[in-house]
Amino acid sequence: MPPPRPPPSIMWDGVMKEPFAGSTTPTNRCPYCLNTWRKKSLVRLVQHMKKCKKLPFARYERYERTVHRSLRQPQVDSAAYTISAIDQRNADDALAEAIYNSGLAFSFVSITL
Ligand SMILES: [Zn+2]
Repeated sequence: MPPPRPPPSIMWDGVMKEPFAGSTTPTNRCPYCLNTWRKKSLVRLVQHMKKCKKLPFARYERYERTVHRSLRQPQVDSAAYTISAIDQRNADDALAEAIYNSGLAFSFVSITL
């Protein structure tokens, strides 16, 4: 009696096996983008998942895929939020005018001691 086969890798979860005419090797179909490949190797599967455009983020860790730089939270540097003194003055004037024109009572700012 042959030794029992090891369980398939969790990486194959969701991958559909479809018969391929004239061959005992089935076609593998990606559950996310529905592309197919024939090779029954884990390396080939991971290769696909690392570039699959529809792989959910929740599966990135499983395939040791890194998040593309453009999809990460953008890094904000202080220069992006710096405005000139003239722009600051114009923004203050515009805000003051907006508050004045809205008819809001200035007492909306309360200071509690
Ligand atoms: Zn895919």
